[in-house]
Amino acid sequence: PSEVNIISGALELKRKTVAEIMTRLEDVFMLPISAKLDFETVSKIQKSGYSRIPVYREDRKNVVALFYAKDLAFVDPDDNMPLKTVIEYYKHPLIYTFDDTTLDVALGAFKEGKSHLSFVRHLYDSDTTDPYYEIIGVVTLEDVIEEILQTEIVDE
Ligand code: ADP
Repeated sequence: PSEVNIISGALELKRKTVAEIMTRLEDVFMLPISAKLDFETVSKIQKSGYSRIPVYREDRKNVVALFYAKDLAFVDPDDNMPLKTVIEYYKHPLIYTFDDTTLDVALGAFKEGKSHLSFVRHLYDSDTTDPYYEIIGVVTLEDVIEEILQTEIVDE
């Protein structure tokens, strides 16, 4: 890629927001904290193909942890281990971003290396209620890199 591609890719990152490239919450494969790592759940995780799986309590918007498919390495499905036990053992960090964050800023956050999946929050702000935010999706480093590559491919 030429300097022009790289520059236009960088400009695109400053122009686009996380909301435009995130995976919406309803499409995210998640697990309830009450789950047991039995044969059925382990099969579901493996079938999903995802490496990072958000864990929620009661409401999907109430994300409490992140489970990595690789955490299954020492799990025997015959033990019916509670997901909670594994979650508390690994304690993978959670990171958050707002939906109007531009991709250059999101990329910078991923580079810090805490996590390559970020929970996307939307801020609800009206005259009648106090402002509050809710998780509306997830965005990963891969989503951002895809944007860079698409730009370069189109521009070529
Ligand atoms: P993976 O390593 O699991 O394939 P990537 O980070 O490569 O995940 O992301 C690939 C795509 O899948 C991205 O669009 C990302 O937003 C989405 N994604 C990541 N994790 C999940 C999940 N648990 N459920 C649904 N979509 C996901």
